[in-house]
Amino acid sequence: MHPEGPERPGRVQHHGPACRFGVKEQRELSVRQNREVTNLRGELSEVRIGESCGIFAVYGSPDAARLTYLALFALQHRGQESAGIVVSDGEKIRSRKGLGLLGEVVTPADFGSLPGHLAAGHVRYSTTGSNKPQNIQPLVLEYSRGLFAVAHNGNLVNAKELRQKCEARGSIFQTSTDSEIVVHLLARPENLGLECPLARCLAELRGAYSFVFMTRDSVIAARDPHGFRPLAMGRLGDAVVFASETCAFDLIGATYERDVEPGEIVRVTASGMESQRIDNADGARVSHCIFEHVYFARPDSVVFGETVHDVRVRLGRRLATDSPAEADVVIPVPDSGRSGALGYARQSSIPLERGFIRNHYVGRTFIMPAEDPRGESVEIKLNAVRNVVSEKRIVVVDDSIIRGTTSRRRFQLLRDAGAREIHVRIGAPPCRFPCFYGIDFPSKGELIAASRSVEDIRAFLGVDSLGYQTVEGLVSAVAHPDDYCAACFTGDYPEPVTENVGKLALENPALGSD
Ligand code: SF4
Repeated sequence: MHPEGPERPGRVQHHGPACRFGVKEQRELSVRQNREVTNLRGELSEVRIGESCGIFAVYGSPDAARLTYLALFALQHRGQESAGIVVSDGEKIRSRKGLGLLGEVVTPADFGSLPGHLAAGHVRYSTTGSNKPQNIQPLVLEYSRGLFAVAHNGNLVNAKELRQKCEARGSIFQTSTDSEIVVHLLARPENLGLECPLARCLAELRGAYSFVFMTRDSVIAARDPHGFRPLAMGRLGDAVVFASETCAFDLIGATYERDVEPGEIVRVTASGMESQRIDNADGARVSHCIFEHVYFARPDSVVFGETVHDVRVRLGRRLATDSPAEADVVIPVPDSGRSGALGYARQSSIPLERGFIRNHYVGRTFIMPAEDPRGESVEIKLNAVRNVVSEKRIVVVDDSIIRGTTSRRRFQLLRDAGAREIHVRIGAPPCRFPCFYGIDFPSKGELIAASRSVEDIRAFLGVDSLGYQTVEGLVSAVAHPDDYCAACFTGDYPEPVTENVGKLALENPALGSD
């Protein structure tokens, strides 16, 4: 199995992004589009941990560009720095890519110039490589077998080593992402003659990857042997679709069929679908990212075979059992605390209320006025409902606490609105370790739980009690606890990390930013 294309010697060439809108054009976006973008920014403004990208691909639909656009819209929560769509009609590959949200980069007016029945798309949050035009995905590169588009979710932990090896053999890299490496491996002379070069090349990668690749006439999906990041497969009529989360299928009317298995490569062409294993896949410990269930994935998605909302409700129930509180109301921190709060309320029989209201209109154009007199950032996204919280004993449920500063501000809002007691319950255990597999967790020094006891954190937050989920409680909420990574809570990393895998690890410091 290998990507097809005309035999043509030469280096890997990068077909760089064509930024769809310049500053001037962005100003000229219609009022309606601007409002939608601003609303979406507000929706996304709750994101506190960088997520590692959303990917989508379709084979066999005359509507490929439109489907990809809609699917990426559903996946926008996974990355907001850049977006891109590449489409093939079997002859030509065309693309629209740019920095910003999907709606700022591609519009329905572009579909006419993106004809084709194959497409791949990407929304990016950079976890390796800075946010610059060269790094926007899908990358479209050319090597001796033809054009090859790459969209990647995850982070490789041996990217530097592989890149140095490729460079020693003459590769010239065009980006500072780890995602480009796979094409340089494919382009090696010893791999060109292989029937299935991807199976061998992917075996050289270590770490987290869910990939969708596209050639002129095939779509390929692949997932690392640990299965860190999700990758679902579905059908829409005769078309085959792949997406990071099934919420993308719901929006386009596709039916979820199954996940691409850890260590599996699925290739779709005019001849049908083939599946094969990555060469080193067998024997690897399956290690799905449990944080996808805690926080990253949308609650309406099926991830790793389970509906995210259901897992979060179970987390909330377990929290209520292990960490009860005498209280009058349960309130969630919107949005990711909602399902957990529901579970807590059901288990404890304490009424669920809306104690926080979110401002949906906080766009990125909002500029904070001069410093708050207290020297602290003002909480602009949430406000407390005074009538709900005043004089009440409140259980506040959130999914996680990372640095603690945002949480402290929010709990102070409840105090200011007259809350009598505040009991904070967290759906996940304390985050004590950084993530190297594609989630932009702060360094250990910035994780409040890495150096402080629960009592210290409670005092820092200024609340009456603080209860975290236990690791046992966390894994009890999923159907197959042994198939999960929980390294950011336990420090037990399923894939050893031996090199610096920071966001800028592949960046050349001599190159200024664009
Ligand atoms: S370390 Fe945490 S965030 Fe990273 S893959 Fe494992 S569970 Fe997910």
